[in-house]
Amino acid sequence: MTRFLDSLAGFGVTFGTMFKKPNTEFYPEQKPPTAPGYHGRHQLNRYPDGLEKCIGCELCAWACPADAIYVEGADNTEAERYSPGERYGRVYQINYLRCIGCGLCVEACPTRALTMTNSFEELADDNRADLIFGKDRLLAPLQAGMTAPPHPMAPGSTDEDYYRGTVTGTAPNGDTSEGGATAGAQS
Ligand code: SF4
Ligand code: SF4
Repeated sequence: MTRFLDSLAGFGVTFGTMFKKPNTEFYPEQKPPTAPGYHGRHQLNRYPDGLEKCIGCELCAWACPADAIYVEGADNTEAERYSPGERYGRVYQINYLRCIGCGLCVEACPTRALTMTNSFEELADDNRADLIFGKDRLLAPLQAGMTAPPHPMAPGSTDEDYYRGTVTGTAPNGDTSEGGATAGAQS
């Protein structure tokens, strides 16, 4: 008898739920905005002149509890420079089949190269390769006035000027040729 009453109570909950308004009724036709602090897809950021902030240090990869990040650093040269300082991230990948969105990688990054956007982009697919994002999908797009690396650092500046945020100039014409940057360091 007790089990019968328990079953009736269970069906009562189910029956009552049938008449409640579903929260996801209009998804995916209508996508509500995510919360401001939402941990969405990552982004690799640039300095105002277009140089990449990532220095290929791998600290984000070491911090990741899901082993979702793969980084291969390489040396900048004066002829081919992608970031201020000695090193840049030549290969950078995030495996979204592994990522749990914890944000520890962002906290570990010493240059604020890595941040998370609000975009969740429905990170699902029917194959593994398309969920491993490389620099082509992670690097922030060039903004107006930025110059696509490789190019030299701003005249008279050091890598520390970039890290301190004192290099604020941009290439005014969005010149994408090598050596086209006209950024300047603030004193
Ligand atoms: S958000 Fe967390 S799980 Fe995802 S790549 Fe960063 S550290 Fe790894
Ligand atoms: S994203 Fe940050 S922590 Fe990761 S390799 Fe680049 S500079 Fe280092």
